Parts: sequence; C-alpha cells; structure tokens
Amino acid sequence: MTNPFETRPAIHAEARKPARTTREWQQMDAAHHLHPFSDMGALNKIGSRVITHAQGVYLWDSEGNKIIDGMAGLWCVNVGYGRKELADVAYKQILELPYYNTFFKTTHPPVIELSQLLSEVAPAGFEHFFYCNSGSEGNDTVIRIVHKFWAAQGKPQKRYFISRHNGYHGSTIAGASLGGMGYMHEQMPSQVPNIAHINQPYWYADGGDQTPEQFALARAQELEAKILEIGADNVAAFIGEPFQGAGGVIFPADTYWPEIQRICRKYDILLCADEVIGGFGRTGQWFAHQHFGFEPDLITMAKGLSSGYVPIGAVGLHRRVADVLMSAGDFNHGLTYSGHPVAAAVAVANIRMLRDDGIVDQVRTDTGPYFQNSLREALAGSPLVGEVHGAGLVAGIQLTKDKATRQRFDDPWGLGNQCRDHCFRNNLIMRATADRMLLSPPLVMTRGEIDELVEKAAHCIGLTARDLGMA
Ligand SMILES: *Cc1c(COP(=O)(O)O)cnc(C)c1O
Repeated sequence: MTNPFETRPAIHAEARKPARTTREWQQMDAAHHLHPFSDMGALNKIGSRVITHAQGVYLWDSEGNKIIDGMAGLWCVNVGYGRKELADVAYKQILELPYYNTFFKTTHPPVIELSQLLSEVAPAGFEHFFYCNSGSEGNDTVIRIVHKFWAAQGKPQKRYFISRHNGYHGSTIAGASLGGMGYMHEQMPSQVPNIAHINQPYWYADGGDQTPEQFALARAQELEAKILEIGADNVAAFIGEPFQGAGGVIFPADTYWPEIQRICRKYDILLCADEVIGGFGRTGQWFAHQHFGFEPDLITMAKGLSSGYVPIGAVGLHRRVADVLMSAGDFNHGLTYSGHPVAAAVAVANIRMLRDDGIVDQVRTDTGPYFQNSLREALAGSPLVGEVHGAGLVAGIQLTKDKATRQRFDDPWGLGNQCRDHCFRNNLIMRATADRMLLSPPLVMTRGEIDELVEKAAHCIGLTARDLGMA
C-alpha cells in the first residue's frame, strides 16, 4: 500500500515555527498544568517534552526531534495524524450545527449516521448505541445499563460486577473501581460498591508450571468460584478487556474466553467487553473479542472510535439487552455531550476511512502479521525478552532476568522505566507497564515504518540489556 500521507500537503511552515522556546513552554507548564497520572514534583524538575505537531505516524517536539509514535498517542490515533478529511468534517459541522442535545425528543443527522454506521461495522446483534465522551464514561454507562436491565426484569438484587485485578476500565470513580489497578484504588477511599475482582490471566508472571492453556482455564474458572461465593442471584455482569491493554498487553491463551462465556451464560450473567483499545481494528478484527471468538452482551468503545481527533465514547448493546431496556420506561442517564454532533461527524468520517480505505483489512491481512513476525524475529535473540504477545498492530514484550525460568527482576517498574528512557532518547514512543514494553502504533503504519519501529524497539531493549550486563 502507498503511504497515504505522502500526497498530503506539508503543514504550513509558519505553523511549525515555535511561538515560544522549549524552556518557556516548560516553565509555563510547570507553573500551571497538572498532568494525569504524574508525579508533578518530579516531572517539573526535569520538564515535560513538548509535542508541537504530527503527521502520519510521526510526532515532532519543540526541539525539532522527529519521533516515531509506537503508541498511536494513547492507543487511539488509528488513522494516523494529519488527516485533513477529519479536519474538514469537523470544520463543516461546527459551522452547520456545532452543538445540539439529544435529550428531549430530539436528534440530529451526525448522531443518526454514526449509529447506522456502527450497526454496520459492529458484530451481528449490535444495533443500538449510547454515547458519551470517553471510555471511562462508557463504563459508567455500562453499569447504569446493566442495573436497569436486571431491575426491569424483576431482579434488582443482581447488582454485582466482577472484573479483574490489573484490568483497566478508566479513571472516573466507577471506571477505576471496576478496574483492578491497586495504585489507583489506594488513592480512592470511596469506591463504587458491589464490585469484586478475580485474578488476571497473566501466565508469564503467575502461571508457574502450568501450560498457558491450563493456566488460562484455571483463571477463567475463578469467575465461577467468585459467582458461587457472591451468589449467582446477586451477580449482574462480568467485564473485561479482551486483551489487557494498560495492564501490559496481556493476551490470554485460547482457553480463556470460551470458558468465561460459558460461565456467564450458565449463571445468567451479562458479559461486557471493554473494547476501548481493542475496538476499531487494533487486532486486525473490528473488535478484539472477534479475535478471541466470544460474544459479549455489551461493548464499550472510545479511543479508535474517533481516532482520538475529538473525544467520544459509546456503548453498544446487543439486541437481547437493548430490547429489555427499550421496553422498560425512562433510562435516567445522559450527558450534555451525548452524541455531540462534531464528535459524531468526525467518528463517522473516521470509521468510513478505516473501512472504505481498507485500513482494518490491511492490518488483518498484511501489516499486522508482518509486524508480529518482524518483532518476534528481531527480539528472538535477546536475553532480556521472555515472550512477545499480540495480534494485528498491538504487542506486549515481556522483559525477564532468565528466559528459562521466567524469573522477573526485583524492580519491574524501574526496569521498564529504564528501557523507556532509552526509547525517549532514541525518538521512539514505546510505553512500559512494569517489565512489559508496549507497542500499539497507528493502523496506517506501512511495512517500511514497521521496520523502523521494530528496529528501534529492538535497539532500545538491547541498550537496556547492555546496562544490565546481559549483552
Ligand atoms: C483508555 C481506556 C479506558 C478509559 O478511557 P478514557 O477515554 O481515558 O476515559 C477504558 N477502558 C480501557 C480498556 C482503556 O484502555
């Protein structure tokens, strides 16, 4: 495939001329801006990197460094940066109808088009969509829908959610309560009640002598044990990411999801797939649950839904849930910006691009397998790499002290940060979750760009191995 960006006009030189020096930006940032998930005291001592513009799969910082973006922003810029079509759509929509609500017997063309389009790309049975502004709000919405679903059927006591330790479901109070990040829970004395967590299917760390398949099955069966402990009459739903994203791109073995689905059906519990990262082509399928071959009742979407160009999230409801909800009177939930016309219009254009330009197909049939093979080949000889997980254009690289015994380093977070620092210095965006290095580049990445990404990733992992005296 040709690089879709080569034909695009370069950003006007004026726009690239920094309005201020890096130092000025950093000082103002330090003086007034609190960053998410950051230690501001520590960050302000070194100063933030200032990203000024981007094109295709590359970012530029205020020092003029060209950086290859191995993370598509935060797992979201699926169509790549600098898509003029999306800017044009947003511009036109702002002039035509920048805002109107969808509360009071009212609707508008962009939200109608988006709903129709989502029903075309979503799996069979998903015909209804509820909108919000983020993945976190999407999962809040999932909780609201699930409660309403059971209450409408005379089972309001079915109110427990079960999720996983080291799962990520966002950072609103409900999203973080559903999520299993201990470091987030520690700072949240008030959590949403009626949520229980089971262990994650992280074979490399916890699998012991079991095969990945045995281990994944056992971890899935923890769901059954937890349901029996709480009482099936009290359990409303299970929610999970098809593969854990922020938790380290952990792909469970094939035995996992069929067993989770079997247990949910057996005990009459809704199965919710948080597809905020997995959705819109990441694995080469439209949704990651299709990669694993299971059938959820609810799907949370955000990130790739608009390729991050504007904030929007959504929940897709399978017919069996939507039918109940739609015959149960008022659903008392909504956001001022539910179905925001500009966000909806951009999402429509984004999804059409992913579909009609064959971007998702290309990840499935060409660049996805190419990336997975190249990465595994490049890292096979590294003494520091224990395993590579992934499909399509997403991968988790496990760092290890000893490949034979799967021993982990004493300070996994320190190790990951050390590797990430090498990436930073080498103009590569690769994220670390403890001792797993994560890649999730824009879905438009070409084979040539994949070569560069893989080569840089292997180089930075090699530098880390050298620091440790392993290579
Ligand atoms: C990013 C993410 C969220 C939260 O989305 P926000 O838009 O940051 O609120 C929820 N679930 C998963 C799986 C995510 O990766």
